[in-house]
Amino acid sequence: MLHCVYHPIYSQLVLPPSHGFPITKYRHLRDHLLATLPGQHLQWHQPTPLSPTEIQRCHSPEYSRAFLENRLDAKAIRRMGFPWSQTLVERTLTSVSGTCLTAHLALEHGLALHLSGGYHHAHFDFGSGYCVFNDLVLAAEQALSQPGVERVLIFDLDVHHGDGTAALCASRPEIITCSVHCESNFPSRKPPSDLDFPLEKGVGDQSYLQTVDQALTLALRLHSPDLVIFDAGVDVHKGDRLGHLEVSDEGLRQREQLVLSRCMDGAIPLACVIGGGYDRDPDSLTRRHAQLFQTAFTLG
Ligand SMILES: [Zn+2]
Repeated sequence: MLHCVYHPIYSQLVLPPSHGFPITKYRHLRDHLLATLPGQHLQWHQPTPLSPTEIQRCHSPEYSRAFLENRLDAKAIRRMGFPWSQTLVERTLTSVSGTCLTAHLALEHGLALHLSGGYHHAHFDFGSGYCVFNDLVLAAEQALSQPGVERVLIFDLDVHHGDGTAALCASRPEIITCSVHCESNFPSRKPPSDLDFPLEKGVGDQSYLQTVDQALTLALRLHSPDLVIFDAGVDVHKGDRLGHLEVSDEGLRQREQLVLSRCMDGAIPLACVIGGGYDRDPDSLTRRHAQLFQTAFTLG
């Protein structure tokens, strides 16, 4: 049984036509999975919004209240990347909660997948790059409060460096951060993760997969995590407009296979989020994100 976490609000945000974010991709992904995977093998879970108290486990009360109450200034909103709306608040609280639920389900069942998440640019007291609150760190924090969970690895393969995650976890030794990313890409300032694997522009399948293998092997061997939270951003794909890497469809498939099989073979609970992906063609983008679920289905 594949445990999938989804809420319709993920794609219900209304954005200006000029806005570059592919907000419909969550709904398209859900529709695609319903059409291509046998329904009796999928179990759907719907998150409820996270409480402001939970948010403040990782974010400053001033910042979280300013966001929730629409008191952020224009500069902070520009940096965050989304115009403020009540729907954005609901969507944000629901989506970060979805990653927490996914981690919870992974600890219970071994594997769970979120059709959203990966807000790794969200810092303690500001949002950035389409990220408001850091779901990865919030989910890791929640997981650490469960018995038997002493170390969580955030394994971030989104093409962009997980700067918010790295900064938030600098003082959290029980959360290990590992980022494989394109060095000449957003964000310009990259606070160090526990393990960073910067790649040059134009890297293709072979060296990309070698680096991912090396990163995961090292992270698992050094830290023996009780849970892995995998940010499976597909903006590493050669067709992505924000990526600058040259990873193919087959390269992505092999990447998902590598991460999932390594964790499953090692009996390490694995919570997956879909992360970034910005192709303007909705079908290509949906197929790229869907590979994660198809791989999980095949291995499960
Ligand atoms: Zn990204």
